[in-house]
Amino acid sequence: MSIDVDAVRGQTRGVLRVTHLNNAGSSLAPGPVMDTVVGHLRREQEIGGYEAAEEAANRLEGVYSSVARLIGAGTDEIALAESGSRAWAGAVYGFPFVRGSRVLIGRSEYAGNVIALRQLARRNDLQIVVLEDDPYGQVDVEDLQRELERGNVAMVALAHVPMANGLVNPASEVGRRCRAAGVMFVLDACQSVGQMPLDVQSLGCDVLAGTGRKFLRGPRGTAFLYVRAAVLERLEPAMLDGHSAVLAGAEGFEVRGDARRFESWETSAAGRLGLGRAADYALALGLDAVQERVVGLAEQLRAELAAVPGVIVHDRGITRCGIVTFSVKGSDARNIRARLAEHRINVSVAPAFFQAGSLPVGTRLGEDMVVRASVHYYNTEAEIQRLVGVVWYLFAGS
Ligand SMILES: *Cc1c(COP(=O)(O)O)cnc(C)c1O
Repeated sequence: MSIDVDAVRGQTRGVLRVTHLNNAGSSLAPGPVMDTVVGHLRREQEIGGYEAAEEAANRLEGVYSSVARLIGAGTDEIALAESGSRAWAGAVYGFPFVRGSRVLIGRSEYAGNVIALRQLARRNDLQIVVLEDDPYGQVDVEDLQRELERGNVAMVALAHVPMANGLVNPASEVGRRCRAAGVMFVLDACQSVGQMPLDVQSLGCDVLAGTGRKFLRGPRGTAFLYVRAAVLERLEPAMLDGHSAVLAGAEGFEVRGDARRFESWETSAAGRLGLGRAADYALALGLDAVQERVVGLAEQLRAELAAVPGVIVHDRGITRCGIVTFSVKGSDARNIRARLAEHRINVSVAPAFFQAGSLPVGTRLGEDMVVRASVHYYNTEAEIQRLVGVVWYLFAGS
């Protein structure tokens, strides 16, 4: 089954106003998702926040099954969070690090995750080992294998899709190696969830974090965490409250037995319902169909951009996705973004280190940047042509 583009655009109000090519930043949410969010906020206004949550109790519970279905997990293995970073950190900060052990990461990690790992490294005297890229810019699985065999590895943490490159890391292969070595595999799927099928069994990850607002088309401030049931007991949340644990006896407490031990008590019920609706929406379209269309549009964009004089397309990798990165000789990426915005074309910019295969060393003003244009299935071939036409006219014309 392929995507009915007219139908999905009919449910995406924003397409009437903007050419939205910033889906890796935050997608335009479909009407049913936003109706769900606003509908619940209205009920909170009308009957009270606790009462509205009680009324929606079954649907709130259903959010866990929807997210679980999206990634092939069990309902008890899902926690909901307010950001992908917090979801990821919930599990990673809970890991019982042995002093002096090593954490393996790729070269295209999310800067926020690297910061967190460096803090943990200082606290626990860990060594962060940055794996080599293979010739295609993906994490080098052979280098991973060598490092795993060297031993003393606490964890492998990898971005499935980097924040600003069109490549998809060979996560299943990484998962297979980690399993064989008995090492915990933490997969950051913030950029992959919603644009391709994900299955935690075939990925072989123990932990997976995803965010709601990007390719999943959920509301802002929503995310989820998957923790494999078999490793749950090894991860004790860095912070607890009356939802993640209960008081026991005069001095004790007991941590919840399911993944919700990583949640906080207070949360946006409306946001959660919207996240669940977004997961259902993606599942109804079919993630295979979503991926096929996203990849097709992105390939069209890369090909058309590459034909513009002075434009360089930077995406690496063998398997590619909906993220397209490019620069124009002699033009600053921030200026390109601003000029495109005048034409109501939304793109974003990102530091060029994702293209160079070097680890983020810090984002400073004046650092080399590239333009990131990220397509979704609701974009059209005509929108792609529009972006390329405006780039050609403004920056390569005359
Ligand atoms: C956006 C992103 C995150 C963080 O997600 P938030 O919801 O913004 O916290 C983590 N990793 C990657 C690769 C991302 O693109």
